[in-house]
Amino acid sequence: MKHISILALIIMSVLLNGCQKAETEQPFARRVDKFADLQILRYQVPGFEKLSLNQKKLIYYLSQAALSGRDIIFDQHGKYGLAIRRTLEAIVLSYKGDRQTPEFQQVLVYAKRVWFSNGIYHHYASDKFTPEFPESYFRTLVRESDAALLPLENGQKVNDLLNLIVPVMFDQSILPKMVCQEPDKDLVKNSAVHFYDGVSEKEAAAFYAAMKNEHDAEPPSYGINSRLVRENGRLTEKVWRCEGLYGPAIKQIVYWLEKAMTVTESEQQKQTIASLISYYTTGNVKTFDEYNILWLKDTASSVDFTNGFIETYSDPLGIKATWEAIVNFKNIEATRRTEIVTANAQWFEDHSPVDPRFKKKEVKGVSAKVITVAQLGGDCYPATPIGINLPNADWIRKSHGSKSVTLDNITHAYDQAAQGNGFPEEFYSTPEEIAMVKAYGCISDNLHTDLHECIGHASGQLLPGVSVEALKNYHSTLEEARADLFALYYMMDPQIIELGLLPHPDAAKAAYLAQITNGLFTQLVRIQPGSDIEEAHMRNRQLIARWCFEKGKPGNVIEQFTKNGKTCFRINDYGQLRVLFGELLKEVQRIKSEGDYAAGKELVERYGVKIDPALHKEARERYAALNIAPYSGFLNPEYTAIEENREIKDVSISYPEDYVGQMLRYSKRYSFLPTWN
Ligand code: ZN
Repeated sequence: MKHISILALIIMSVLLNGCQKAETEQPFARRVDKFADLQILRYQVPGFEKLSLNQKKLIYYLSQAALSGRDIIFDQHGKYGLAIRRTLEAIVLSYKGDRQTPEFQQVLVYAKRVWFSNGIYHHYASDKFTPEFPESYFRTLVRESDAALLPLENGQKVNDLLNLIVPVMFDQSILPKMVCQEPDKDLVKNSAVHFYDGVSEKEAAAFYAAMKNEHDAEPPSYGINSRLVRENGRLTEKVWRCEGLYGPAIKQIVYWLEKAMTVTESEQQKQTIASLISYYTTGNVKTFDEYNILWLKDTASSVDFTNGFIETYSDPLGIKATWEAIVNFKNIEATRRTEIVTANAQWFEDHSPVDPRFKKKEVKGVSAKVITVAQLGGDCYPATPIGINLPNADWIRKSHGSKSVTLDNITHAYDQAAQGNGFPEEFYSTPEEIAMVKAYGCISDNLHTDLHECIGHASGQLLPGVSVEALKNYHSTLEEARADLFALYYMMDPQIIELGLLPHPDAAKAAYLAQITNGLFTQLVRIQPGSDIEEAHMRNRQLIARWCFEKGKPGNVIEQFTKNGKTCFRINDYGQLRVLFGELLKEVQRIKSEGDYAAGKELVERYGVKIDPALHKEARERYAALNIAPYSGFLNPEYTAIEENREIKDVSISYPEDYVGQMLRYSKRYSFLPTWN
């Protein structure tokens, strides 16, 4: 599971004073590009130069593996993704006409958005974004571009290509959503995501239900690494493996993983990578579980990675995973904080307000660390989470534990970029609140991430016979709510101050105020007028805030009021708000543990999806005046192997500033798949 914190986005990322080192390295904070609702930042990799040569080589090889799967995610996000990306790249690289016209500038913006989203759907909202240039102009550009650069396969003509991609790009009625979440529709047929072909929701659900054995104590993640298709009238899986679907890219990943195996930090890490290679070769989901167990037990290595088909947020049925990769190394100093949290994991589990039947009797092997990201790939690039807790398989978490990471240099980059952007002054109502949020925002947000990942996702257990898929399209939202509520409930616990995790009770108040203001109001700036909330983390945040707002009304726990014509929120009773967080946590855990789909649906649909149009409009207007981008993504650093007599003597790191340049380089160097898969 990945954690995209309440702030990483807009809110607390603004606040620096609580975090050290924020004032230095000023040039790095600069945004290198801004378009649509997005900005591009860079992240620094402090400490890379001090690593050993072997560690640098390991990072280099793993980074190559992280980039080699890039095409996969474009195809997973929709079957036209690679064709559209390559056509746009042909235009950007070869169009000889006037590039200064407003129309051409709009083509550039569209291309940048496609690179950012790894496809034609908004990376967060899942809606298709449509070009702001005429269709006829696009056709002309394509015809006037270098035909050798166009993705014309199997003797296709330019017009054939245009007839395939133009309707998908320009007609809003064709495949409008990557992930459909409307419960009254066929979720599979109405989702553009390329996990199913010619299959209905009912058929897909039945296909996987038949594989399940409810007495299996170690149920494999059936279907996680394949496309389900109809062939000769029968349903069959096209597995993503070396000799299967996406094979050409997977073989490249394996090539670099094999190199990485020669420079691992330990025998255990070597076995872990060998197991991943075996999984990529066979596609066997049981091998995937074996790999995950090896991976989570390797807590000694400094350099670490994720690489594979991991998260299921983009499948409306929550079965199939998108491809992602992160390469990182341990930030030893900051890891002390997460070690305190995990050392107390059992205490947190025992003292939570959850029904004892749904608690883990013995919390096993939660390991947590703070990491420095060295490379992002696939679904984690350029938009990245700030915390990750893996593996996702419930039975592995229960019997072997999980590994949880906080991406420190990414949060740091957010903080830097947000300096002085005017956000707290605009959205909090008193100087005291603004000061509180500025003083503690960063520190409390880091702790929120740690608690969410290390103990939130890791907590609780399912009743025997209940499957994680029972909650279907509501699973992701409820899972994020569970982890957030666990974190929120404990932030105000005196034990947190006792353990030295927060310096002052006001730090927890800052987190509560930001959570509520964001969930009820400010996160709406990211939603297009007329749309509902789609993304799981955002649904979760509104669900929590609206539920507490409503349940707290008798005691006026949370108050909405107007000051100088502007809507504001304040919390009148922080202690009571904590009680409400606890009550909702108890209910969400019950829903998960019992697999109570109806109650989960009711909770999400009632509190998490619909938006108050007046509040929405106001939030967008006030935010627009600040001229900040609601979403950020990151350029990767680039590594160069310095060779002597064909041996790597050193690995250098550089920090490019050109977003378009990096995307074009990646498309040239790491494009291994055919256009149509
Ligand atoms: Zn999470």
